[in-house]
Amino acid sequence: MNKTKVVAIVSGGLDSTSMVLKLEREGYEVIPLNFNYGSKHNNRERQSAREIFGDRLIEIDIDLSFLQKSSLINKDKEIASGGYTEENAKQTVVPFRNAIMASYTVAIAVEKGAKYVAIGNHAGDHYIYPDCRPEFIDAFRKTIEFGTEGEVSLLAPFVNIFKSDIVKQAEPEDADILAKTYSCYRGGEKHCGVCSTCQERKKAFKEAGIQDKTEYME
Ligand SMILES: [Zn+2]
Repeated sequence: MNKTKVVAIVSGGLDSTSMVLKLEREGYEVIPLNFNYGSKHNNRERQSAREIFGDRLIEIDIDLSFLQKSSLINKDKEIASGGYTEENAKQTVVPFRNAIMASYTVAIAVEKGAKYVAIGNHAGDHYIYPDCRPEFIDAFRKTIEFGTEGEVSLLAPFVNIFKSDIVKQAEPEDADILAKTYSCYRGGEKHCGVCSTCQERKKAFKEAGIQDKTEYME
């Protein structure tokens, strides 16, 4: 029997890579899809996504450089150090980003004959990113189903759990793959170790009790 196909949005980061490993364990055929929307870390993330997924990675470039309020995109705005305070997290918001990427993904899913699109957003994203919240996900699932006459639906397996719980779902043999993932918002070759996403990454490995083989600058 043919496996059910899922087009999964993969950043090259920890959450989306864990999601692909989980979906594959559950028996899905995963088509990984990576976006570069012009943020500072997209190029470095894509490098990780290529290392992890190889030739099967589909790459899409969308130019959101006109959105200059986000510190992820605006080259004159520095990415703050320190933890995920509301203040510095808000500066990173790219408005409607998940919805924009998910829309492209639905179109590709129809083209590839996939039953689902999958996104790896998690509960830690809720308070700052409205298009990561369960209400949005439920409504968007309906939108996708209406918009494809039921051909495609949406999976968001981590919508109600936190980052450390995502890493807890990994198996010991996943440690090497997870080490290839990239989280840093600064986009350098190595993880900076001090920005909000680097701190979250360290914490997630620690809380999950999985060895963190990441090389950090500090
Ligand atoms: Zn960092």
